[in-house]
Amino acid sequence: MSAEEFRRNAHVVVDWIADYLAHPQRFPVLSRVQPGDIKRALPSSAPELGEPFEAMLADLNDIIVPGVTHWNHPAFFGYFAISGSAPGILGEMLSAAFNVNAMLWRTSPSATELEEVTLSWLRQMIGLPSQFEGVVYDTASIATMCAVAAAREVIDGLDVRHKGLCRASEPLRFYCSEHAHSSVDKAAITLGLGLDSLRKIPCDDEFRIDSRALASAIAEDRANGWRPFCVVATVGTTSVTSVDPVPAIADICSRESLWLHVDAAYGGAAAACPEMRWVLEGCEAADSIVFNPHKWMFVPFDFSAMYCRRLEVLRRAFSLVPEYLRTADSEEVKNFMDYGPQLGRRFRALKMWFVLRYFGREGLAARIREHIRLSAELKSWIETSSDWEMMAPAPFSLVCFRARPSSADYSEEELEKLNTRLLEAVNRRGKVFLSHTKLNGRYTLRLAIGNIRTTAEHVRLAWDELSEVLSAEC
Ligand code: PLP
Repeated sequence: MSAEEFRRNAHVVVDWIADYLAHPQRFPVLSRVQPGDIKRALPSSAPELGEPFEAMLADLNDIIVPGVTHWNHPAFFGYFAISGSAPGILGEMLSAAFNVNAMLWRTSPSATELEEVTLSWLRQMIGLPSQFEGVVYDTASIATMCAVAAAREVIDGLDVRHKGLCRASEPLRFYCSEHAHSSVDKAAITLGLGLDSLRKIPCDDEFRIDSRALASAIAEDRANGWRPFCVVATVGTTSVTSVDPVPAIADICSRESLWLHVDAAYGGAAAACPEMRWVLEGCEAADSIVFNPHKWMFVPFDFSAMYCRRLEVLRRAFSLVPEYLRTADSEEVKNFMDYGPQLGRRFRALKMWFVLRYFGREGLAARIREHIRLSAELKSWIETSSDWEMMAPAPFSLVCFRARPSSADYSEEELEKLNTRLLEAVNRRGKVFLSHTKLNGRYTLRLAIGNIRTTAEHVRLAWDELSEVLSAEC
């Protein structure tokens, strides 16, 4: 593609993106295609000869867009509602253009040093002490896996790097709450620890880990020949955004010499607001902490910031430098390939840098604060309605609730059926999208506010949609 042809096509694409971002409501939030529709609409093998760009764009509109679920839609309230902001998209475009591999400092000094700078800015923004040094991963799942690998690396006398786990004299154990994200289980599987090595600790009635139960579990495991080595605490659990009591967990970890990893994938961003700093209370004593600017800081997917108090442990766990990757660069430079399992790394820092500079801390905090305000408003509607009830506290911007019409005395089973039907019906209408979870076995609707384009009008729309669908049901 010549420079001229690139310029022409790029303008078309940028116009397309600008229109898309300006009017995402043109599309149903949730894609309406059936399984296999997209594959059937596409040829079964690649074209033999190149095709004109216009043909690709036409197929993008006709085939691909109908199969897109629009996370950028302001009424996307499912899972955690992540969205890419325009400055982040521009940063992403440039990083695709550079196409550097940020594996070594010399393979692109700007990529490495901008990663260090943006991580330092972010660290300050959420109030973590300066001993914490960071590395960017694709996702929090990978960050947590690496944190557990680092925790394993510091176990005295184990030398898992050389000997593997089969020669360990005692089986290893680590801990998280029953509400921790499934990525903790996946870390147990991937690292060869096995799911039996992960003990899930019960929660209190606000879905936070019971720290006394944690301390007892550790004592019991030691007495039974296990070797405890790590605790994963969560700030903002996936189902309900509960916050584990990190200060109490940190005390236990310090007493028991266990690595403390904090999964603040969702909740960490809130600490950019001074009044929400409390969410990271106790995290200064953690060994590692992950938070995802791609979740609630408007950075296009993916960007996960992992901080370690002793980053060299991560390096010890993963660094392996074959001859062809050796350089004569000074010891002072960071080669980020040393801090995880992957060699090749994207230039993710550019989009983060654009987002931080475009909005500033104030701008990001104002948007996060507004999401929290909107969720408080929704909560007040639920609490004052006789047909709906809250299912959990809402410390951030996720509201967990369900319909419980006062007109009849519903059993738990009927409530589950009713709420399942409501969710299906609301999502089928295409104006808003919500997801669900189960809390203490009870089917619960989740409305997550986190999209940069969401306003009071969209939350009102969701409430009206829910109310309409409920009236039709009852
Ligand atoms: N941790 C928590 C608390 C989450 O809610 C999620 C995803 O929602 C994850 C980890 C996994 O995030 P990622 O998709 O970045 O792996």
